[in-house]
Amino acid sequence: AAKQESRNGLRVFEASMRERQASRAWIELALREAVQNEVIAPRYQPQVDLKTGHLAGFEALARWRAEDGKMVPPDIFIATAERLGLIDRLSEQLLKRACRDAALWPAPLRLAFNLSPLQLSDPRLAERIIAIIHEAGLAPERLEVEITEGALIREAAVAQDTLDMLRAAGVRVALDDFGTGYASLSQLARFSFDMIKIDRSFIRRMVAEEKQLKIVKSILGLGQGLGIEITAEGVEEAEQAELLRSLGCHIGQGYLFGAAITPEEAATLASRKGEVVLAA
Ligand code: C2E
Ligand code: MG
Ligand code: MG
Ligand code: MG
Repeated sequence: AAKQESRNGLRVFEASMRERQASRAWIELALREAVQNEVIAPRYQPQVDLKTGHLAGFEALARWRAEDGKMVPPDIFIATAERLGLIDRLSEQLLKRACRDAALWPAPLRLAFNLSPLQLSDPRLAERIIAIIHEAGLAPERLEVEITEGALIREAAVAQDTLDMLRAAGVRVALDDFGTGYASLSQLARFSFDMIKIDRSFIRRMVAEEKQLKIVKSILGLGQGLGIEITAEGVEEAEQAELLRSLGCHIGQGYLFGAAITPEEAATLASRKGEVVLAA
């Protein structure tokens, strides 16, 4: 019976492997077409000033509705684009659109934009970003590029030059998903950031777990000491927002304030930014 079971297990395993390979091949094919036809587009998730409750800007999050109508998660298609060497092209399409959208929002509302780690090893990246914001008529101070910790480890010298050039031009740099990498502190010591985004895993457990709360407080202290602003990711409950506000956290982002919305919805929200208080 045990033998039978393991043979069945193997068959199930082989079937799921085949399925996975088939879906991988499908995604690769569909992604090439999607990039060709520019169908992957940014949506915008609100970022809120916790002190005033006012809108501070939006993070652009890429969304892809495949031809079968299903949404493909960005974690999947971004990784696939990286594997296929399509990430530069895809990212450029997204940044152009996002900058055009953001140029319509009243200042000083900001656009946060995710860069892939692979892009940071391109020595012409900074130049291209600066050209794109210039063309869109977006002031550099209103763009904040988000990078994850892993990005900085791979090609540190090129990454450093890229970030230096962007910051010299006035573009802000944020360290995304802070606390989940394995070298968070050495990245902070080595590079200059304008913003740290505390990963949502800490925010989620902060209210219930004393230890998580202490970690969040320490990150806020670190930011204060280094003169870096802090964003809390994954704020889902009013209680978390209130706690973060009382601790001096600058910006909140999460389903409490809203998920990513269309460019039209973002423009409407942006135009009312002075009146709308998003905090619950
Ligand atoms: P990220 O940059 O850390 O983006 C935040 C992710 O958390 C988004 O997932 C967002 O929808 C989700 N999120 C926001 N608020 C909440 C909340 O309150 N609760 C929970 N559970 N989740 C929340 P999304 O859109 O699926 O994106 C996943 C990742 O894909 C992003 O993580 C980013 O690393 C990457 N990504 C998305 N768009 C782009 C892009 O244009 N370029 C690149 N290179 N990466 C992108
Ligand atoms: Mg991000
Ligand atoms: Mg993040
Ligand atoms: Mg992430």
